[in-house]
Amino acid sequence: MSSVRAVIVGGGIGGLTAALALRSAGAEVGVYEQAPYLGEVGAGVAIAPAGMRVLRRLGVAEEVTRLAGTVAAVEARRPDGTSMGGPSFGAGGSAMGMYRPDLVETLAAALPDGVLHTGHRCVTFGQDERSARVAFDNGVSVEADMVVGADGIHSVLQHHVVEPRPPVFSGRIAYRGVLPADRLPDWPRDAAALWNGEGKRFLTFPVHAGELRNFTGFVPADEEMRESWSAPGDPAALAAEFSGWDPRLRELIARIETTFRWGLYDRDPLPHWTRGRLTLLGDAAHAMLPHMGQGANQSIEDAMALATLVRGRDAAGVPEALIRYERLRRDRTALIQEGSRVNGARMNTEYRPGVDRSGIDDYDIEAEAEAERQA
Ligand code: FAD
Repeated sequence: MSSVRAVIVGGGIGGLTAALALRSAGAEVGVYEQAPYLGEVGAGVAIAPAGMRVLRRLGVAEEVTRLAGTVAAVEARRPDGTSMGGPSFGAGGSAMGMYRPDLVETLAAALPDGVLHTGHRCVTFGQDERSARVAFDNGVSVEADMVVGADGIHSVLQHHVVEPRPPVFSGRIAYRGVLPADRLPDWPRDAAALWNGEGKRFLTFPVHAGELRNFTGFVPADEEMRESWSAPGDPAALAAEFSGWDPRLRELIARIETTFRWGLYDRDPLPHWTRGRLTLLGDAAHAMLPHMGQGANQSIEDAMALATLVRGRDAAGVPEALIRYERLRRDRTALIQEGSRVNGARMNTEYRPGVDRSGIDDYDIEAEAEAERQA
């Protein structure tokens, strides 16, 4: 049986993980990224236990763990600094606080030369019963048995699956960035912290082996801020948002020299995300707000689900495998999209962070996908 030829559009966390997973399932893979070189915003992402389980099976967990900051327990506080308790992770313990460039470079380094093609912006897609074809702005075009749109919340490939619709603005922006941990000498290098109330939230956790501290400040947005997806932010404006809050939080913010701000958008669950030989993955399939810390984690789960269902198929079997992948993933990701909106609406002192996360953290996507494959 000849191996399935897979083209992945988008070299973010989802696309690169899908490349590793599909290769381990025997597919011939090419990843096509629009940017001239791989890059990620200089901020953090927490990889939770279910995502780490996938990365372990793909052979990159050791390097990820080496580069991570440990997010063992999140101490949540009200604006005045009094404790609200902390969420616990399910089986598998803590999450890994990753500096995004570290994660993307680790995933890319695990791929053999010749798999990743930067400087390729996908502009057109077509398919017939036998194959699919993707063309790029540099004149290159490639044929494949399956195409994976891992091209993020603004996905162009999504338009080949559903009617185009604009993403939904949440009414908030995030100030994001990192600062050297040695600017906060009395802060433990393995501690995460969260402050919540008055329609705002501030989260910090260590990344880059504890040498950097990631921060995200969620605040309501005015019209002018809404218009930009990502723009330089002003540390003084961030400090003003949290003036009068816990002195410990203000101590951290006072040491921030650079930040950027990020408009927070998501989408309603798509009615479907597969058509023939084309499917979607990650934010392209199920863009969600960051309030459960699950966007990247779900893209990692998608990657393992897709690969498990494609394993053992030939080109003719691809459309059926993609339908099964969507069937397995759609309800779970729709629930997490909804949960992320609900959690975003809880920026008040009623917020109880000790929710049971076991349904999220204990989930084993490979086992679920294997059961779907055998069904
Ligand atoms: P992306 O990372 O958007 O990657 C898409 C890639 O496709 C990009 O490299 C892009 O250049 C490329 N591309 C786009 N168009 C084309 C084209 N036409 N041709 C070729 N290439 C193209 N998630 C978590 O799990 N944990 C967290 O702690 C967390 N924190 C977050 C905090 C904030 C403030 C925000 C905003 C998000 C957070 N997320 C978190 C969500 C997470 O960042 C995203 O869900 C995740 O990065 C999505 O990955 P992706 O690969 O699907 O898409």
